[in-house]
Amino acid sequence: MQLEDSVQFLKGVGPRRGEMLEKAGLCTLEDLLYHLPFRYEDRRSITTLRQARLGGEVNIVGRVSGLREHRRQGRRGGVLRALLTDESGWAELLWFHQTGYFKERLAEGSLWLVHGRVEAAPRGGLQIVHPEIEALEAGEGGQANLRALAAGLARILPVYQKPGDIPVAAMRRIVGQVVDGLATEARSVVPESVRSRASLMPVAEALRYVHGPPGDADIAALAESASRAHRTLIFEELFALQVGMTLRKAERARQPGIAMPRADERIRGYFARLPFVPTLAQKRVVHEIAADMAAGQPMNRLVHGDVGSGKTVVAFAAALQAIAAGYQVAVMAPTELLAEQHFATMRPWAEAEGLDIRMLTGSLRSTAAREVREAVAAGHTQLVVGTHALIQQATGFARLGLAIVDEQHRFGVLQRAAIHSSAAIEGDKEGPRADTLLLSATPIPRTLSLTLYGDLDVSFLDELPAGRRPITTRVIRTAARARLHERMAAAMREGRQCYIVYPLVEESEAMDLADATSMAEQLQAGAFREFRVGLVHGRMKAAEKDAVMRRFKAGDIHVLVATTVIEVGIDVANATIMVVEHAERFGLAQLHQLRGRVGRGSLDSFCCLVADVGQSAESFERLRVMERTSDGFEVAEADLKLRGPGEYLGTRQSGVPAFRAANLVRDGELLTMARKEAMAWLAQDPALARPESAELRRAIERRWSSVLGLAEVG
Ligand code: ADP
Ligand code: MG
Repeated sequence: MQLEDSVQFLKGVGPRRGEMLEKAGLCTLEDLLYHLPFRYEDRRSITTLRQARLGGEVNIVGRVSGLREHRRQGRRGGVLRALLTDESGWAELLWFHQTGYFKERLAEGSLWLVHGRVEAAPRGGLQIVHPEIEALEAGEGGQANLRALAAGLARILPVYQKPGDIPVAAMRRIVGQVVDGLATEARSVVPESVRSRASLMPVAEALRYVHGPPGDADIAALAESASRAHRTLIFEELFALQVGMTLRKAERARQPGIAMPRADERIRGYFARLPFVPTLAQKRVVHEIAADMAAGQPMNRLVHGDVGSGKTVVAFAAALQAIAAGYQVAVMAPTELLAEQHFATMRPWAEAEGLDIRMLTGSLRSTAAREVREAVAAGHTQLVVGTHALIQQATGFARLGLAIVDEQHRFGVLQRAAIHSSAAIEGDKEGPRADTLLLSATPIPRTLSLTLYGDLDVSFLDELPAGRRPITTRVIRTAARARLHERMAAAMREGRQCYIVYPLVEESEAMDLADATSMAEQLQAGAFREFRVGLVHGRMKAAEKDAVMRRFKAGDIHVLVATTVIEVGIDVANATIMVVEHAERFGLAQLHQLRGRVGRGSLDSFCCLVADVGQSAESFERLRVMERTSDGFEVAEADLKLRGPGEYLGTRQSGVPAFRAANLVRDGELLTMARKEAMAWLAQDPALARPESAELRRAIERRWSSVLGLAEVG
């Protein structure tokens, strides 16, 4: 048995289960060794059915009889029922899945340890749905024997996230085999001096502890992953990641960059022509960027700013410095609409500077696109605005000096590695590397930004332009919609404009949701008869979307019905009401983005989140976070706690968790500590050349180098 062996060859794993494990990212025995329980079951005290508290998790020792399976009308599979009797009473056991599997195992009169939640059955008596069961040797049957038996069972059991339909107990046996056979093979990646400062356990011991806690373990600490064993494994993982991040930063800094002299005079001239005075934060960030660009190393800077903080102004100042030095600039946006808007915003600024600015999007006819590419390749064009994909394809820049990537968070950490190594930025391998400036409008909780952006320099655009009015936010139920429509109509009669956002484009049969297309028709014919209702959604052609947006911007459309295509970047100062329908279907960070579409001018603005009546009080409460704060960072913290970090890490789609032990929502404090220790260690051993760094180096090569886009470790 070896760490790198495939799971296929374990006892109890055939080709079918092997495939299920692999689909869940559990391919090797090492993956299983680090597949930590997501919760624990306390089987240390056995109760009787009479003593069982309703709603509580209990362990009961009893006999099973009277097995019956029913078909359910209109459903696949049936219900399996059995009677559990112990010395004090009886309860019904129920299974809705895997009924065949349990039916086969539950022989009439056999003795079991049953774990589960005891509830009142609808027709009286007690029931346990989907209990976990463990066979006990059929003993002599006397009460005294049962108690002795129960005492021997007293322990804490791990419960694993199980792929496919592998039963809990089988999963426990599969992982158990690997822990027994291989825990001692697991090596620590943390050098000894750091280990003792962080008071870590030996890794083998930590693994055995988390997979099979001793009977006297602190169950609360286990449940919170706060046992010393858990902290050891979490620290090991975060330390390696932070070393990897720091290495990546150092690796980039070693590459030759382009020193583009500061162009302060030119930037002052540009600022003076703007119709407003830049905020202090904008000036500070421009200054930070200017210093990076003037240096000989490639810039890798992220500008982090809430919606409406004015990142475009900052980005253009950076572009000016590159252009003044004789280089070209690429501006990349995640969507065409956004690229078009950046182009529209920057064009007058560029023209006032006498620059050649072009746009490159998928909707340009190919001859037009070819013309732009030629101008770029010849070096005539100084500033190109386009979508991320298109600019990546347009590798033929004559002298690319700066790449500006907007709405960075949408690309996730994995995609970001791809952007960094994209041909456009990399240039030809021998030559200097272009500077990169990333713009993120999603405020990110601090713990996450250390992980996502630990390899970048970060600037905070933490001041909104003066004169912005706070946006009032209200969560309402659908019943109050008529009053809302009256309020919208009143605002529109005063010349204001409104947005209404729906989660879907078209009516869906699967879900009973109002959709943008049919609602736009209904509203035009009904509540908003006297106004012009426009519709924009992601399935429209770029030119159509653009036409609608232009009409909205010009005030020709009063109510814009939309899907989340308007989430990022759209800027219409006269729009003062944002309504989000089915708000319960959106993440808080996304709602914050949507809310940022209003309050862009000096008018009072209002954001209304309409939530469905039937849904739980809990999701209604979640939305109320939006009423309480307009601070994007606070919203992001709340969103992270509620929805986990997958959204931000870009791992949601792949379904494979990026971390084995760590949880970024929970482990902020350990992350900070790991980061500090990682930097201190690298200061002593920057190339990971010492023998104490050997395991660390190996771990980073194996686990993180491709994720992080590290060329080589050390
Ligand atoms: P975001 O950071 O959300 O991308 P934008 O760059 O789109 O923000 O700017 C939002 C709006 O604020 C734009 O209309 C822009 O012209 C305006 N703006 C930017 N900076 C200032 C400022 N210092 N004072 C007033 N308005 C500003
Ligand atoms: Mg923007």
